[in-house]
Amino acid sequence: MYIIMLGAPGSGKGTIGNEICDKFNLVHLATGDIFRDEMKRQTELGKKAEEYISKGNLVPDEVTIAMVEGKLDKLENVLLDGFPRTIPQAEALDKYLESKGKKITAVINLDVPDKDIITRTSSRVICSNKECGASYNTVFMPPKVEGICDRCGSPLTKRKDDNPETIKERLDVYHQNTEPLIEYYTNKGLLESIKINIYSETTKEDTTNEAVKRINNRK
Ligand code: ADP
Ligand code: ZN
Repeated sequence: MYIIMLGAPGSGKGTIGNEICDKFNLVHLATGDIFRDEMKRQTELGKKAEEYISKGNLVPDEVTIAMVEGKLDKLENVLLDGFPRTIPQAEALDKYLESKGKKITAVINLDVPDKDIITRTSSRVICSNKECGASYNTVFMPPKVEGICDRCGSPLTKRKDDNPETIKERLDVYHQNTEPLIEYYTNKGLLESIKINIYSETTKEDTTNEAVKRINNRK
């Protein structure tokens, strides 16, 4: 099974993606998490990615596609979080899956208004343990103990690119490069769009249940 998470930065792709992975036993492949880990370890890929990520820009398609295909080769049931983010990436993924005789099951699009994205991303903290990757929000979804991950007990940190200027750039990049994927996957009959209002109290469970229901209908 191949599930794709679509949505603006801070829409909850990672959080909802984690829940969906638990329900369907999928591997969570989050390109942002992989890049952050490479940056932390200062690998060649990490240094290259950092130039783009720190400015809120996308890592070039060739680099990203090669990295994702390398990982996909070893995996069977996967949730892709943060990939594809451009039309060329989506086309490369289609080609890749076709060559392996595989298909995308569903594309879950988390639909969050821009003004909520800014609020949400500015108050985001993430788990420092790369195996975990959990994400919290000091206002809307705080951890049980301040500064500590509920899932694994590791310290929480702030992402360097979650500052107001970079967030604005990432939102622009999202509208320009990633939003066209909504039409791309609608045309393929794969899109499942879920509207989210962060000010309602039930978000995480509601959104997860809705996504699970939509995936089950397509299995
Ligand atoms: P968010 O969705 O909150 O912006 P991610 O963790 O998914 O965060 O991505 C962080 C950054 O990593 C992006 O702003 C971008 O620079 C880079 N990145 C992640 N995925 C891709 C991708 N598929 N193509 C290009 N760059 C990517
Ligand atoms: Zn954790």
